[in-house]
Amino acid sequence: MNPREVLRNYFGYDSFREHQKEIIDQLIGGQDVFALMPTGSGKSICYQIPAVILPGVCVVVSPLIALMQDQVDAVRELGIRASFLNSSLDYREASLVERKVIDGELDLLYVAPERLVTPGFIDLLKKTSICLFAIDEAHCVSQWGHDFRPEYLELTILAEMFPGVPRVALTATADAVTRREIIEKLRLQTARQFISSFDRPNIEYKVELKDHERNQLIDFIESYHSGDAGIVYCMTRKRVEEIAAFLEENGIPALPYHAGMDAPVRVENQKRFLREDGLVMVATIAFGMGIDKPDVRFVAHLNLPKTLEAYYQETGRAGRDGEPADAWMLYSLSDVVMLRRMIDNSPGDEQHKYVQHGKMEAMLGYCETTQCRRQVLLGYFGEAYGGQCDKCDTCQGKVETYDGTHAARQALSCIYRTGQMFGVAHLVDVLMGKDTEKIRRNGHDAVTTFGIGKDLSEAQWKSVFRQLIAAGMVTAQVGARGGLSLSPQCRSLLRGEDSFLLRRDAVSVKAKPVKEKTGG
Ligand code: ADP
Ligand code: ZN
Repeated sequence: MNPREVLRNYFGYDSFREHQKEIIDQLIGGQDVFALMPTGSGKSICYQIPAVILPGVCVVVSPLIALMQDQVDAVRELGIRASFLNSSLDYREASLVERKVIDGELDLLYVAPERLVTPGFIDLLKKTSICLFAIDEAHCVSQWGHDFRPEYLELTILAEMFPGVPRVALTATADAVTRREIIEKLRLQTARQFISSFDRPNIEYKVELKDHERNQLIDFIESYHSGDAGIVYCMTRKRVEEIAAFLEENGIPALPYHAGMDAPVRVENQKRFLREDGLVMVATIAFGMGIDKPDVRFVAHLNLPKTLEAYYQETGRAGRDGEPADAWMLYSLSDVVMLRRMIDNSPGDEQHKYVQHGKMEAMLGYCETTQCRRQVLLGYFGEAYGGQCDKCDTCQGKVETYDGTHAARQALSCIYRTGQMFGVAHLVDVLMGKDTEKIRRNGHDAVTTFGIGKDLSEAQWKSVFRQLIAAGMVTAQVGARGGLSLSPQCRSLLRGEDSFLLRRDAVSVKAKPVKEKTGG
């Protein structure tokens, strides 16, 4: 059978998508491939079809142990001979699978990376005929990537031990640095590279400042998505439960999903979400890996994701069917402070923390940008995009900017005058000239910046501080309770040599009229 016949006979599809045919031809011809293609673009077919056509087994390396059973079931249903080997199998089950490998009874074998590189398993592979190595989630080999797995580094040996067997590395998330690392670590210097556009033209991107989370969420769902299926991501398990209950109370059918729930309930909720129409899944990021529901109409984030890679993956679960969908996010300064602290307190070395901080800065930069969001998002993945997509809040003119030099200098000066140790809430109180116990106790009613900022609202001041943090002018300290200090970059701004453009947040601009209306 040729690739097109396999596509039709096994998978039931008429035509290949972008890059699929070229990748398959390359692999059948014995050449290595590196494929960077977005989630849902159809990467698996690229190695499954060669696995069917070529004699010998295709070994698929994947870190997603929890999904292997599902993946194997799905391809078996298509009539492809497949099994998996990972730590969930007992000795007897594993031996049965190994027997099949030796007897040449498999087209596809899924293995966890730690299993693949054991001497016993390498011996087994040496005794069998292998047609292809497919290294899925290849970004896991990169320390710069967002999901580094040390065991992936061991995959280097594949090139040395099986020089004649073609290898394909696949990933949906890799910026330029990660890409270079994958090529180098997996010895794919001569591989042909296939890079798809990451643009998801049917997704509309919107980011708002958190003001009143629940009202904003209800407003968003009722205005744009009543009766639609959607995913709402929350940071904590507790919040997942609360928001799911809150949506239910407001007549929006919703289910919770997080890793702390009893497995049967969690599985049942996932099944219902996939099967039924118009359900909202409220979940931690534990939800979503391998979820293939085409008609998810919105993905809402109630907190700042840690990285743009994560944000792109999570929002990418919307609109797989190509119909219009929304990626909507709320974030706040306390998200930023909390994430910073999580990174600082995480295990791992300084280098790792440095990388994580850098990724978070990029995430914030996306939120605070005065440019087209699609341009910033695609630019992060190394893809040039002209801007003006018409499908983001910036392009739709929902974002105002203003020359914030004066306000920025007042804010910096306030941080300095109060000794570079106080958090945003207190600094805003000082600028607005409030009479609080903390201000009196610290004598801050006597500093020169006391009460100089009455022309901006509290929300606007918070936005100024946030953007100063996003721009790296100000650093949120570790250990102290979010205390802010000046970073060296702010010097020229303080001296009046630089200007500072601010994004006037949709929320802080809108907040007042909305409140007046509800009050009346
Ligand atoms: P990825 O691994 O890139 O996230 P998958 O391989 O899971 O994506 O494919 C996503 C969906 O697209 C699957 O339902 C798959 O069957 C479907 N698909 C893949 N290739 C084609 C094609 N050529 N025509 C139609 N559907 C396809
Ligand atoms: Zn845009």
